[in-house]
Amino acid sequence: MDRRQPKPQLPDMKYISTRGGIAPISFSEAVMMGLATDGGLLLPEEIDRVGRETLARWRALPYRQLAFEVISRFVDDIPADDLIPLIDRSYDSFNHPEITPLVRVDGLHILELFHGPTLAFKDVALQFLGNLFEYLLKKNGGKMNILGATSGDTGSAAIYGVRGKDNINIFIIHPHKRVSRIQELQMTTVTDANVFNIALRGSFDDGQAIVKAIFNDIPFKDKYSLGAVNSINWARILAQVVYYLYAALRVRGAAGSGKVDFAVPTGNFGDIFAGFVARRMAPDLIGRLVLATNENDLLSRFVNDGEYAVGQVTHTSSPSMDIQVASNFERYLYFLFERDPKRTRAAMESFASSGRLEFAEKIRERVASEFSARMVSEAETAAVIRTYNERGYLLDPHTAVGVRAALDFAEKDTPMICLATAHPAKFGDAVARATGSEPALPPALASLLDRESRCDLLDADLETVKAYIAVRALGSAGNRA
Ligand SMILES: *Cc1c(COP(=O)(O)O)cnc(C)c1O
Repeated sequence: MDRRQPKPQLPDMKYISTRGGIAPISFSEAVMMGLATDGGLLLPEEIDRVGRETLARWRALPYRQLAFEVISRFVDDIPADDLIPLIDRSYDSFNHPEITPLVRVDGLHILELFHGPTLAFKDVALQFLGNLFEYLLKKNGGKMNILGATSGDTGSAAIYGVRGKDNINIFIIHPHKRVSRIQELQMTTVTDANVFNIALRGSFDDGQAIVKAIFNDIPFKDKYSLGAVNSINWARILAQVVYYLYAALRVRGAAGSGKVDFAVPTGNFGDIFAGFVARRMAPDLIGRLVLATNENDLLSRFVNDGEYAVGQVTHTSSPSMDIQVASNFERYLYFLFERDPKRTRAAMESFASSGRLEFAEKIRERVASEFSARMVSEAETAAVIRTYNERGYLLDPHTAVGVRAALDFAEKDTPMICLATAHPAKFGDAVARATGSEPALPPALASLLDRESRCDLLDADLETVKAYIAVRALGSAGNRA
């Protein structure tokens, strides 16, 4: 940062719940709260448009500095002297100087978001969130025990986000033998004393159900200061807003020279919601948002048919998008309902009881004007991986879903930026099925194979898991050190 400039004033920014049930809180409180206590999701009171001069200035900034400029607009209670080094550190773990580089392939722009420690885009947010947790716990006192269930990607990114940090322990449950070898090793080879990997004799759903039951046991949750790392945390969305603006400003030089479109492989609606926020900040720069789903097409059906209805989860080659309830959807709903928390609450309650929502024609038109959407089948995903491999660029299956959808909506004079959410070697089996050969393991993954690993195998039983946590949690009777 240019430290000769006068210290920027902290913005007067407060956070509210989509369901209107909490008094406005600060950024730090929103980060620690995660899910709003009224069951809603936290959002900034305002998302202000960024002026032309500011955007022009931002064009010249490297990633970390742009990250500070964007993030600090939403942070009312962390001084720049603390926030700048916190952000800088979060991206030191990335192995590319541009953090999220753009690559041109065949008329498309691929935004590579997989240069972080676990080779998936979740690192962009979880490296930042881990540092924020550590900073806030140190500043305000307290300890935290993070608990989560993973089908693969989120677990390792969360573990890398908090490994070795003070005042935080992390417990990640994965289904024994049902994650890929690489995904398992990415979690279990992290042997820092604050990391606890649990391999559960059961399915991902069993793990998820146990985690839910533990979070619903409020006395237990409070006693052990349990925290969550799923994608509902506002800080994760905020960190992701940065790369939309970074990429758009790199592809479209001067302000006023036109817009760019984005294609986003979508599961929980977190990443594409970050794009929605970025577009509200820079509506002259960001145009169409293409929402791409795999065969779990809840969200593409919502955009195209105006119906939001839970279906059965289908297992696909893009497992991080095998989702039937999009946990961030409520944030968009709130905007769709003109920021009316009563309507949002009523809709979410109705969805909770019936598993579906239908929308009036006027609302459907609005959705269609804000998103384009496409479901991409398994066969199409494999075909796209094959085609691009022949052109010399290897796509992972998640990215391939986005690229396939992008091809339908790309317009001649508008650059299309496709978010590349994982490194192809992370999903080597699926890539090999499409291309006939397994992608080479990058050094970060190859070195996992001969590292020490640590993991505990537990039965899929609620009391067993609780007992395991109780003796290892920070602040518990058995662990006062
Ligand atoms: C999590 C994930 C996604 C989906 O992102 P959402 O924010 O849940 O929509 C896409 N690709 C990969 C590789 C992921 O890990």
